Amino acid sequence: MKKHNFSAGPCILPQEVIIKASEAVMDFNNSGLSLIEISHRSKEFVDVMEQARSLAIELLGLEGKGYKALFLQGGASTQFLMVALNLLEKRAGYLNTGTWSDKAIKEAKIYDDIYEVASSKSGNYNYIPKGFDIPEEYDYFHCTSNNTIFGTQIKEFPDCPIPMVCDMSSDIFSRQLDFSKFDIIYAGAQKNMGPAGTTLVVIKEDVLGKVSRHIPSMMDYKIHMNKGSMFNTPPVFAVYTSMLTLQWLKNLGGIEAIEKENEKKARLMYSEIDLNPLFKGYSSKVDRSMMNATFTLTNDDLKETFETMCHSAGINGINGHRSVGGYRASMYNALPLESVQVLVEIMSELENKA
Ligand SMILES: *Cc1c(COP(=O)(O)O)cnc(C)c1O
Repeated sequence: MKKHNFSAGPCILPQEVIIKASEAVMDFNNSGLSLIEISHRSKEFVDVMEQARSLAIELLGLEGKGYKALFLQGGASTQFLMVALNLLEKRAGYLNTGTWSDKAIKEAKIYDDIYEVASSKSGNYNYIPKGFDIPEEYDYFHCTSNNTIFGTQIKEFPDCPIPMVCDMSSDIFSRQLDFSKFDIIYAGAQKNMGPAGTTLVVIKEDVLGKVSRHIPSMMDYKIHMNKGSMFNTPPVFAVYTSMLTLQWLKNLGGIEAIEKENEKKARLMYSEIDLNPLFKGYSSKVDRSMMNATFTLTNDDLKETFETMCHSAGINGINGHRSVGGYRASMYNALPLESVQVLVEIMSELENKA
C-alpha cells in the first residue's frame, strides 16, 4: 500500500533521490565501486562535495555575496556550540521560541553570557514573540526559523544591527527569504535535504575571525572552509544524497517553485483544521508553520477511530511530539499534495461519522 509519510525527521525524500542514492551505493557512476567505498579525496567525490556546496549557495541566492557552504557532522546540535565558539566574545542575544532554541541557549551559555531577547515559553511556545530589541553591542543574534515541535515559524525576520545566525533545520529551501540578511545559516540535513549525518552550514566569510579564544580544529569554521569542507572524512553518503535533493529542487524550479507547492499543502491542511469542529490548531494563526502543522482532537474519545482510519489509509508519522501532544503533520518539500489530501479527507470523514 502507498504510504503517506508525515514524519517530522528524518523525513520523506523525493523517490527519485532514494533510487539514485541506492544505485550509487551499489555502483557509483559506473565505476564498479560503491559510493561508500571510494576515497573522499578521489576526483569523483570531490566533485560531489563541490557540487553540493555550490548548489546550496545557488538555491539560496547567495552567489557572489561572500558566502561559503560547508557540510559538517554532529547534527544541528553541534552547531549550537560551534556558533558560540566561533562568534561569542562577550554576550549574544537569543530568541527563545522552543525546545531547539532553548538547547542552543544552553550550549552557548557554557562559553559566555547569553541574553534572551524574548521568549514564548509562557505560552508553551505556541507563538513567535515580536517587537523585541536587539542590542547593538552584542556579538550576534540567534533565532530558529521554524519550530519543528511546536509548529510555529518566523514570518518576518528583524532588521538586525549585528550578525544574525539562524537554525533553519526544518524549513531551509522551503520558502523564499532574503538569505543575505543572515551571517550564518545552519540546518541538519534530515528534515528537508537528505539523510541524517550531515549539517549544512552557510557562512558569510567576513563574520569569522573576531573572537580571541583558541578554537579546537574540528569546531573551527575557518579550518573547514579552508579545507573545502574536507578537513576530515566527510559523511559521503549523506552529502551525496543531499546533493541529489538539491539537484531535484533546482530542476523543479528552485525555492520559488517549491514554495508554491508548500503553500498549497499548508492552506489545505490548516483550512481543514479550522473548519472541522473536531480539530483545533495548536499554534497562533499568524505564526503557523508551513512545514509542521500541530493540532489536537477536540474530543479525545475519537482518538482510536481517527488513528485507525489514518493507519488504514497508509498515513505514517503524525503523532505529535510529547511536549505538545496531539498530532503533527510535517509537510516537507518532498511530501506530495496528494498525501495532505488523503489526511484531510480522513479528517472530514471523521466529522461525518461523529
Ligand atoms: C531537528 C532539529 C534540530 C536537531 O538536529 P540534530 O541534527 O538532530 O542535531 C535542531 N534544530 C531544529 C530546528 C530541528 O528541527
